[in-house]
Amino acid sequence: MGEVILELAGVRYRYPGVDRDAVGGVTLHVREGELVGIVGPNGSGKTTLLRLLVGVLRASAGGVTVAGKPVGEWNRRELARIIGVVPQREEPVFPLTVEETVFLGRYPHMGALAAPRRADRAAVQSALERCDVVAFADRRISTLSGGEWQRVRVARALAQEPKVLILDEPTANLDIRHEMEVFELVSDLVHHDGIGGVVVTHHVNLAVRFVDKMLVINGGRVEAFGTPREVMTREVMERVFQWPVHIETIDGVPQFVPLKSTQTGSAENE
Ligand code: ADP
Repeated sequence: MGEVILELAGVRYRYPGVDRDAVGGVTLHVREGELVGIVGPNGSGKTTLLRLLVGVLRASAGGVTVAGKPVGEWNRRELARIIGVVPQREEPVFPLTVEETVFLGRYPHMGALAAPRRADRAAVQSALERCDVVAFADRRISTLSGGEWQRVRVARALAQEPKVLILDEPTANLDIRHEMEVFELVSDLVHHDGIGGVVVTHHVNLAVRFVDKMLVINGGRVEAFGTPREVMTREVMERVFQWPVHIETIDGVPQFVPLKSTQTGSAENE
């Protein structure tokens, strides 16, 4: 694994007018070639953590370091060349083609009103190929299926040629095949191409099959950080999600099954 690309050291954040921290002292690092998952219940601070990582919010205490430099010392355009973001919700409403959309990812590399250079075209072509969307490069984005649209959004982030990719709920509303395809693509970009990856997801079972490390956050605090085997324990999952679970190991990876409330008794007897 490569250099540390993102680092949080004791980061706190409190929204103005709120009497508790949304993120309370989180320490975390992500290396190039490493995929880190962030999971936790609703309201646990995942979105706030992402906003801190990309420099949209400034930490109230502690430090965020991107590629060895405090996040606040990078200008926006420089930061956009390092961090590719696939945000959570975005409807394909603009009358753009797939290729035009992926070209938008080149913006941080291009001068204002500049014509695309050879390097820009090459990066777009490579991103289209890498995400397997070449076949519909000329289609309007409004005509894409959910799975295709997600791959296009990853391609747009990739066209930036980032050192780290941050994805917020990349498989929301996708069926099993398409959510597997998205995770396999992200895992390949990280583990084969060597960029860093951070993925926030509700799909804990899916994520642990692909990530190297998992951060479990609860009430703005780190409940567990480690390999899937280290964090996917019944104790941690039940405490964080406040629901009885059963843990099974499939392909060497722990998976959890939420029990019906009426089954809790038998779970206790195991
Ligand atoms: P998650 O993404 O895990 O659902 P969030 O980071 O959105 O969690 O929220 C963490 C906490 O911060 C929650 O208590 C939420 O109510 C609060 N919060 C989020 N955004 C704001 C905001 N703009 N102003 C005030 N409080 C906020």
